[in-house]
Amino acid sequence: MTEMTYQRVGASGVRLPAISLGLWHNFGGDDSYRNARAMVRRAFDLGITHFDIANNYGPPAGSAERTFGRILRRDFARRRDELIISTKAGYRMWPGPYGDGGTRKYLVASLDQSLRRLGLDYVDIFYHHRPDPETPLEETLGALDHIVRTSRALYVGISSYSAEDTRRAAVLLRDLGTPCFIHQPKYSMLVRGIEKGLLTVLREEKIGCIPFSPLAQGLLTDRYLNGIPADSRAAGGMGFLKPTDVTDALLAKLRQLQEIARARAQTLAQLAVAWVLRHPEVTSALIGASRVAQIDDAVGALANRHFSADELQAIDRIL
Ligand code: NDP
Repeated sequence: MTEMTYQRVGASGVRLPAISLGLWHNFGGDDSYRNARAMVRRAFDLGITHFDIANNYGPPAGSAERTFGRILRRDFARRRDELIISTKAGYRMWPGPYGDGGTRKYLVASLDQSLRRLGLDYVDIFYHHRPDPETPLEETLGALDHIVRTSRALYVGISSYSAEDTRRAAVLLRDLGTPCFIHQPKYSMLVRGIEKGLLTVLREEKIGCIPFSPLAQGLLTDRYLNGIPADSRAAGGMGFLKPTDVTDALLAKLRQLQEIARARAQTLAQLAVAWVLRHPEVTSALIGASRVAQIDDAVGALANRHFSADELQAIDRIL
């Protein structure tokens, strides 16, 4: 079994596993509880101590927190202190003017609802889920500071903020006395925006980085190489990944990437995970899974995290 490694989050003393498990898909009210529970248990047995969730995960919104709360009560009641659990608010959660965005009103109320669904007194990390241009950054970050001071969360983070807003947030949060712990951006071989400035800001401000969708929602795996399986995310109809995303041009790239993976004795998914972890700024790769075997596969990536300059160039040429 590949051994889990743990890396320090920015300037903090906390270490996160190189691979963390997100509960965006496959933990909702309509999904199999038995499968969800098996995935969380297996992940923990593999050394995955960090689980990421958000107020709106499901469907229906809120149900992934309920599922995870049920698993925590049943299997982890005596292990709370061995886990880093995060949740977020920033997308539409309830009707009216106070159920969305980045106001103090919304963030505090949403976290209180999340804690009830999870059955927890506090979460380890609370994120503002996405920038809200209509709320002053000072208000949003003041709310995060308040959340820590009232013991609802131990650390705070931001997600999908630009490099520029991240720099401002780092300064404002430092002044408040609650440092920005971690940033959660979208990053994979197919979505490389953070290489254009955000990674530099995170290094300079000593903020951790946990890229989400490192497998591009499953595109960077062998899942779609021979058509679109009926039980795949692209076929699922949630709309975030569509059958039309699986283009012939993409498949041609994936087949070439798979050759590189094969030469490294890796699966395509393992290559994709190792590739996001190659930056020293990246603390952990935040994967999703629909079955236990996919978690085993991802953790296997840690057996070969090193890339030669030639390999990196070959990957760049394909992309
Ligand atoms: P990934 O890119 O890791 O995609 C996961 C999906 O890829 C799985 O559900 C599965 O899909 C497929 N897959 C995974 N492993 C394998 C494998 N070894 N072989 C074949 N297929 C595989 O991540 P997600 O898009 O799920 O995002 C991960 C987490 O990031 C979320 O759960 C959430 O916590 C966070 N996130 C945060 C966001 C934000 O705004 N902050 C936005 C989105 C995600 P299939 O169902 O087809 O089997």
